[in-house]
Amino acid sequence: MTMPWQRTAAGANLLGPDGSLGVTIFEEMTTLAARHGAINLGQGFPDEDGPAAISRIARDAIAAGDNQYAPGKGILDLRRAVAEHQERFYGLTPDPETEIIISTGATEAIAAAILSLTGPGDEVLTFEPFYDAYGAMIGLSGATHTTAALLAPDFMPDLGTLEHSFSERTRMVIVNNPHNPTGAVFPPEVLREVVRLATKYDALILTDEVYEHLTFGVAHTPVATMPGAAERTLTISSAGKTFSFTGWKIGWLSGPAELVAAARTVKQFLSYSSGTPFQTAIAHALRMEDAFFTDAAATLQRKRDILADGLRAAGMEVYTPQGTYFINADTSPLGFTDSLALARRLPELVGVAAIPVPVFCHAEGAERTKSLLRFAFCKKVELLERAAGQLATLKEHL
Ligand code: PMP
Ligand code: GLN
Repeated sequence: MTMPWQRTAAGANLLGPDGSLGVTIFEEMTTLAARHGAINLGQGFPDEDGPAAISRIARDAIAAGDNQYAPGKGILDLRRAVAEHQERFYGLTPDPETEIIISTGATEAIAAAILSLTGPGDEVLTFEPFYDAYGAMIGLSGATHTTAALLAPDFMPDLGTLEHSFSERTRMVIVNNPHNPTGAVFPPEVLREVVRLATKYDALILTDEVYEHLTFGVAHTPVATMPGAAERTLTISSAGKTFSFTGWKIGWLSGPAELVAAARTVKQFLSYSSGTPFQTAIAHALRMEDAFFTDAAATLQRKRDILADGLRAAGMEVYTPQGTYFINADTSPLGFTDSLALARRLPELVGVAAIPVPVFCHAEGAERTKSLLRFAFCKKVELLERAAGQLATLKEHL
């Protein structure tokens, strides 16, 4: 009999090469990087803290005794701040009482939404490559995971054939925009087609927009702003990426009251509630002036360009991302055809860690992406330059 954890692990490609239980590829690469003293461009976390004024608010909240359970759906001030943020940037007006809950990172919101709304007999459609948590949670829910390919160089879905991925059983389509691991940012015409098909097949839309503020010269369009989308869309975001506090694990989920209530029902038995002093601090962060958000994206764009140049100089083909923390690079011009094996050797070979893109795929997609590596550029410029120099020596190891 297949145990639930095995479905979870298989969904997230967690089974190691010998069929044993592995840790996530992110942790595996972070551990390998530490072991070899390598520059960690694998797991996506910044190497600099978010705004000092915001961490001071968290420290003050702890000192002031803000240390017991927050309400299960999150403190009211943060739910209000999420609503204000959505109105300021997107013109959306969710009700903080019934249409927003705070979660323990986006990860918990993903789990709660999938587990509460899908199950055996349902199909859940994601684009592929897909962020590992979707596959894990679809596996745990017992639903069937179907995929629609995103192809290099721009990693956009083929709108001419996207409908082939939908069926009468499609219960939910998961959008991740800006997209991890490819860095693609879906324009409104892509989102419009997703909404049209979700409506035609009466599927819910779960949209993970944790990189909403990290786009480079293109606008982020929330799915919930598309005509006809709001009534069937749950939107997830998180403070981790926007404010460089990935360790605080404060996320949120918003959408129609009945869908949010369903997710909340499951969420309260996952973690019940999330770090009280961090919620207080993130309420302030969400109210920072517009310049904070545009400056963060501009800084990251410069880092993207430095790493992209370095990867090109190292002989790889680079797919320049329009958003996120991540660049995909093809190692086949260097003669590599197995990025999983390469990623496991890279820290030792050249002192850099990266993530192999096939781990974000089922078998067919893994074949398509077998020479791709994902590099994180949310790191100090000096480190990115050093990593690029070290990667340039990869040719010598062929
Ligand atoms: N969704 C995507 C697309 C992500 O890249 C990440 C993490 N980087 C998450 C969700 C998880 O976010 P959190 O750390 O807030 O749980
Ligand atoms: N989201 C981060 C990434 O894509 C990793 C988070 C995790 O380790 N689960 O790198």
